[in-house]
Amino acid sequence: MNPREYKEELLKALYAPYKNCQECHLGFTGRKNVVFGEGNADAELLFIGEGPGRDEDEQGRPFVGRSGQLLNRVLAQVGIERSEVFITNIVKCRPPNNRAPSPQEAATCMGLFLYNQIKIIRPKIICPLGSIALNNLLGKPCSITKLRGTNLEWEGFTIIPTYHPAYILRNQSQALSWLEDFKTLKNALLSVQSR
Ligand code: SF4
Repeated sequence: MNPREYKEELLKALYAPYKNCQECHLGFTGRKNVVFGEGNADAELLFIGEGPGRDEDEQGRPFVGRSGQLLNRVLAQVGIERSEVFITNIVKCRPPNNRAPSPQEAATCMGLFLYNQIKIIRPKIICPLGSIALNNLLGKPCSITKLRGTNLEWEGFTIIPTYHPAYILRNQSQALSWLEDFKTLKNALLSVQSR
């Protein structure tokens, strides 16, 4: 078994008991699927969004709606294969009306899944998409506008945050800055791959 297969097995074992998770309020609000995440279990780059939207809840996969299509396009533009990265969210169930997850929902879900996903995957770079993902990961309020595209350190991991694609859909004027952040991510990836 190679490292990727081994990590896939660990992730499967992590998810198996929680296919109908009701460990926080979001398990009781009509979600259709628990969206654990997908991609390369041995990825060097991990993306973390906020939570599943309607399309993601329907399909049980992260970033498959309009935001996901935009993410796919920018990844292709900078030469990152979606299949080579891992993509997940702070909370794995859709918050009603796409509201932000509460601090308690985020803490419960991260404790169950995200921290364990990070421990299993051991990515070299983590990219929180948007302020909700960044704030919850770092455990403090931060300005995504100030910190986007910069290198931060958290628990020994390199963190390079950027805007959530849903924000770019609403604010096209930031699309070039967003592309620059993905070029920064690509360069950081090339740098860790050359070590
Ligand atoms: S959001 Fe996370 S903790 Fe809450 S019910 Fe869904 S999977 Fe469980």
